[in-house]
Formats: sequence, C-alpha cells, structure tokens
Amino acid sequence: MFVRGLVKGLSVTLKHFVQTYLGHTGLRDGVRPDPTLGGLFTVQYPDEKLPMFPRFRGALMHLRNPETGEPNCTACGLCIRACPQQCIEVEGEGKGKERKVTAYRYDLARCIFCRLCVESCNFNAIELSQEYELATYSRDMVWDLEKLLALGDKYGVHETGKAW
Ligand code: SF4
Ligand code: SF4
Repeated sequence: MFVRGLVKGLSVTLKHFVQTYLGHTGLRDGVRPDPTLGGLFTVQYPDEKLPMFPRFRGALMHLRNPETGEPNCTACGLCIRACPQQCIEVEGEGKGKERKVTAYRYDLARCIFCRLCVESCNFNAIELSQEYELATYSRDMVWDLEKLLALGDKYGVHETGKAW
C-alpha cells in the first residue's frame, strides 16, 4: 500500500518534470500559453513580460483629448482634495472652460494607489496605469506632467473604450 502510493506520487512528479521540457514555452503574442499544454511555466523576465491585469493599479498617468492632443486636466484641484496622502500638486491658467493645466506633480513615493484621485476627477484626465516597474536609484520620485502624459500615451485607454 505504502509502495503503491509512493510510486503514484513519484509518477505525477515525473510527468510534470517531463512536461516542463515539452510543449509551449514562454509567451505567445504577450499571452502566457495554457499551462495544461506543458512547457516552461516561468516567464523569462525582463526579456519577456506578462501583460498586467486590466484592473491593476500602477502609477498615475494623465490622459489627453484624442482630437486635440491636449491634456484633459483642467487644473480644478479636486484630485488634490481627494488624495489622502497629499501626493498631488496642480497649477493651471485661464478661467472657466478655458482653464487648463500648466504643471502637475505626483509624488509616487507617497502614493498608496487608492484611486480616490481618479474617482474625484470629472474630466477623465487621470487614471492608474499598468506601470509596475517603479524601482529607481533616485530618491526623487515626484513625476511631472510631461512624464505622466508620456505614461498615458504608453498605456492609453482600455480596449473597452474606458480608461484602465
Ligand atoms: S486631474 Fe482631474 S481632478 Fe485633478 S486637477 Fe485635473 S481635472 Fe481636476
Ligand atoms: S492613488 Fe490615492 S494616494 Fe495615489 S495620488 Fe491618487 S488619491 Fe493619492
């Protein structure tokens, strides 16, 4: 009885060991193959990167008006009030509908990715991106508008048409 159980357990181990070296390996078009097909299950990071989950909360990004290319932000300041960590500073110019953002500072080191800033924004100007490679050698982790817009250009909006 004991030997039968041992052989059965080892046969399962052997089966998975052999499967590891057969079948699909790595990513295919950015998608991890079905693990039941066999093959190496680990991704060769950083050469290969898994796509993040649609609702992943990474660093903040700024979104543009797709027609004009201008930032959607109107520097209304609601996100500043919503942020429990005081991560955000905004400067703007103009009044009413003409008002637009001139500077935006986001302190990544303080952010807890709660997304309250995004929920407070009425202009679809900000969203949490898929960016997860946030390690840096610098202690200055305050990102300016240019960097936040570049991140928005990189990740854009989800295929559903909504921001991520
Ligand atoms: S990101 Fe949104 S809430 Fe924050 S200042 Fe700009 S428009 Fe207002
Ligand atoms: S995600 Fe939360 S902590 Fe980070 S900037 Fe937005 S409101 Fe502040």
